[in-house]
Amino acid sequence: MNDWAELDKQYIWHPFTQMRDWTESDPLVIDRAEGNYLIDTRGRKYLDGISSLWVNVHGHCRPELNEAIIRQLGKVAHTTLLGLASVPSIELARKLVEISPPGLNRVFYSDSGSTAVEVGLKIAFQYWRNRGRDRKRLFVTLTEAYHGDTIGSVSLGGIDLFHAIFQPLLFSTLRVPTPFPYRYPHLTPEECRDRSLEYFRVLAQDRCDEIAALVVEPIVQGAAGMIVHPSGFLRNMAEICREYNILLMCDEVATGFGRTGKLFACDHEGVRPDIMAVAKGLSGGYLPVAATLVTDEIHDAFLGLFTEQKTFFHGHSYTGNPLACAAACASIDLFQRDCLIEKSQPKIQLLADRLAAEVAPLSHVAEIRQCGFMVGIELAEEPATRTAYPPELRMGAAVCQNVRNYGVILRPLGDVVVLMPPLSITPDEIRSLVTATARSIRDICGD
Ligand SMILES: *Cc1c(COP(=O)(O)O)cnc(C)c1O
Repeated sequence: MNDWAELDKQYIWHPFTQMRDWTESDPLVIDRAEGNYLIDTRGRKYLDGISSLWVNVHGHCRPELNEAIIRQLGKVAHTTLLGLASVPSIELARKLVEISPPGLNRVFYSDSGSTAVEVGLKIAFQYWRNRGRDRKRLFVTLTEAYHGDTIGSVSLGGIDLFHAIFQPLLFSTLRVPTPFPYRYPHLTPEECRDRSLEYFRVLAQDRCDEIAALVVEPIVQGAAGMIVHPSGFLRNMAEICREYNILLMCDEVATGFGRTGKLFACDHEGVRPDIMAVAKGLSGGYLPVAATLVTDEIHDAFLGLFTEQKTFFHGHSYTGNPLACAAACASIDLFQRDCLIEKSQPKIQLLADRLAAEVAPLSHVAEIRQCGFMVGIELAEEPATRTAYPPELRMGAAVCQNVRNYGVILRPLGDVVVLMPPLSITPDEIRSLVTATARSIRDICGD
């Protein structure tokens, strides 16, 4: 039998990974999966506690999704959307428009969250050009934002650990402080929210002639450590955008497709963005496909004679891939057929209850942030004073490594332990997930 781990170390460069550490580690090689469990080449089973990096929705090997892909595979695996149309991409676009916040009527496909954001920012930029408003070319973003890893999306991002080194390659953006109450214990969440809103309002007032769009992760900033914005923040930001003629682009790549307990995070506050990027959960976590949805008004600003230079010149080889679109259609059908959002609510409550009972009392847990199936457990050396562990201890990573001994896969964001199970997780699995996480935190951090 092949020693897969050794071959991996020989040939593969892993994403977001210090390869020297990797080479010294004992990598787990996944062979297959069943439902909410991953199974490695040695036959060991692990609960997929982060939905295979936030993408899986209905569990692995769902017959409905497998069959949709196989059915499409019998017809054709890929044809281009450059100069040709295809049935699955049309079906999916129609479904997306139906379920998205009102007004988003046009779908532009790409392959990943990063490209969906990249497309959105290029559309926003060109939209104002096409309308003769050349000065509107700046983007407003939140500090600690994460929008992907391509140069444009990194420019919008603000996570120093990932982004600082690329600074010379990036365009600059205007930053509004993220309303993150944990960082400002002297403020109430409402004060924290209003401070950020006021900051944006002043910026909008002064520079609306230069601002193309506000780009935000609605409600939850995932990669920043599951920062849950105080209620009303998104709605108020959207109102300021309207008031000052600034486009609102919501990056629903992480939050979309039921993650936060609504189909889209925007739905929590009745927000209607001008541009919305979706990816991760779009295909149920099966195949890479992404979409950038825009309003008719934006789409129509690109209409004109070819010589008017209003065309949007952007597209990827696998844009609108039929297999991925077929999987996405089947995934959306499952949401509707199984009333998934409604059925999720008691499970979200159970997750909150178990976290409160088993994790919150641990002496190195400083805060638990949860919105739907997105959970961040903030570890700290001294929770009372919110004193972090020295980063070199890599406590979050240690907890996530150790939890494998209890049959669970997790991956941290710094010292935030992330739980992001598939929506298909059962109540019993929720209990085991939380119990395993609590045990691992206790093992590593002490009682
Ligand atoms: C993951 C993520 C992205 C990037 O998506 P990829 O598919 O990894 O390129 C963009 N925005 C947000 C909010 C994300 O969580």
